[in-house]
Amino acid sequence: MSKELTGELLIGAARVPAAAGTMKALDPSTGELIEPEFAFGGAAEVDRALRLADEAFDSYSHTGLAERAAFLDLIADKLEAVKDELAARTALETGLPLAQFEGEALRTAAVFRKFAIVVRQGRFLQAAIDPAQPDRPPAPRMDHRLQKVALGPVVIFGASNFPISYSVAGGDTASALAAGCPVVVKAHNAHPGASEIQGRVIQQAVAEAGLHEGVFSLVRGAGNEIGEALVDHPLVRAVTFTGSEAGGMALYRRAQQRPDPIPVFTEMTSVNPTFVLPAALAARGAEIGAGLIQRAMYNVGQACLKPAILLAVDGPGFQELRDAATAEVEKAAARTMLTPSIHDSYTRNVRRLEDNGAGLIGAGSAPVGAGDGQSLLYEVTGERLLAEPALREEVFGPAILLVRLTGPDQLLEVARAFRGQLSATLHAEAADRAAAEQLLPILERRTGRIVFNAFSIPQEVSYASTHGGPFPATSDSRFTSVGMGAIERFLRPVTYQNFPDELLPQPLRAANPLHLWRLVDGELSRR
Ligand code: NAP
Repeated sequence: MSKELTGELLIGAARVPAAAGTMKALDPSTGELIEPEFAFGGAAEVDRALRLADEAFDSYSHTGLAERAAFLDLIADKLEAVKDELAARTALETGLPLAQFEGEALRTAAVFRKFAIVVRQGRFLQAAIDPAQPDRPPAPRMDHRLQKVALGPVVIFGASNFPISYSVAGGDTASALAAGCPVVVKAHNAHPGASEIQGRVIQQAVAEAGLHEGVFSLVRGAGNEIGEALVDHPLVRAVTFTGSEAGGMALYRRAQQRPDPIPVFTEMTSVNPTFVLPAALAARGAEIGAGLIQRAMYNVGQACLKPAILLAVDGPGFQELRDAATAEVEKAAARTMLTPSIHDSYTRNVRRLEDNGAGLIGAGSAPVGAGDGQSLLYEVTGERLLAEPALREEVFGPAILLVRLTGPDQLLEVARAFRGQLSATLHAEAADRAAAEQLLPILERRTGRIVFNAFSIPQEVSYASTHGGPFPATSDSRFTSVGMGAIERFLRPVTYQNFPDELLPQPLRAANPLHLWRLVDGELSRR
């Protein structure tokens, strides 16, 4: 691939010049603009991309499983091939370390390979066969066969904070393509060059795989207009979004007001509360305090899974936890945040903590550059946390809140006060069992992942992963946006009743030509 970025939009097979102005990327570590100019599109470009996606849908959603899996593997090959170029540009546009993005590029390629396996296995089709029972009393049963089918063209809003793994070629794109849905990505303006490199990888893979050009497009625009045009477009069948609660809910509400409402899977906000029970606190307070801060500072705290609120009952081990957490924060250097506006909102949100009674107990080195985020550790009482909902809300960036609780009852009361979360963590020893048993149902009701004696970061991308949870963690707690289950967001069931075998889709035919696991009369079978 050419190392030259052209800044054009990628609409189907075409590279499309600016139709609504241009922008340049910003190096957040220096505040300088970087070449080249990147094109903005408008409603006409959105329309073109979605018409192509709709044209591509019938052929792409009916690709054979082997062919679709090979396409996903091809994207993975190409992502690996551009790893160095992609990592370098991403580091330049985000101010984050190069090595982080070499790893992120490889992990993202691995996600495409995992979805290729999911597609080959075909279990996502959830084929089910209820054979005819002509003699069933009191009424005969006709033959019923079910499989999942792709929803249609999907619009994906690239995330700012994971500029590869949740951006143009990220997990949302991989899972939608695996499901058989053409994709139109709205690139995030925080990393336009990284977005173009990823977009060209997919555009080339579509061409080499001989697929309809509309399987993939990348658009970019200024302000809310382009996002609104994407969500409003009549040919879109689902939307994914990772970002702020305000942005996610604006798009969600918009989609529900369409003449034909569509699902919008938003992943928005979470503080990932971490509860340390008394015996664990006494045994490992210092280790937990230091370990949590190390994980929390990953990506300069700009991670949806940052363990932002650490809670423990005052007693043996609390001081050790507090001291170790403070010492770890004090070691942390101030680092460039992703964008000036994310930095500004960090500053505002830290002030919100202070205005609501949180006391600063530790600070990392002072900012040098204008966009640097300083690592900060605050402390607050359980009573205060209960009284001020604002203290329970996310501060996107390297700030952590330690909560000093008065006793086990307050711990449970505080746990009940949290809104929906992506994850919650429990540190416990055998002697904490009774307390853990009381806490667990409260957490289960509020979160998509419960972590035991570990930390919410890193997140595994696997079959048993959940990255989701009750509102406002996401807009639909029934689904995950990370892991192989993410494909389910883009599927819906269709039942074929009383069909002749030759008209059935291959996965449902009598001879099981794809050798799939199917639910036959309620029993899993490969026959
Ligand atoms: P954002 O402001 O919510 O924007 C995300 C994407 O949605 C962008 O492409 C944005 O377009 C678009 N968008 C937002 N609101 C829109 C609207 N009303 N209509 C149409 N399009 C809209 O998120 P962000 O830029 O990534 O960061 C801002 C803040 O979001 C952060 O400070 C942080 O608080 C939060 N955030 C949270 C997480 C998390 O995982 N918890 C992740 C990322 C960000 P434009 O860029 O053109 O506005």
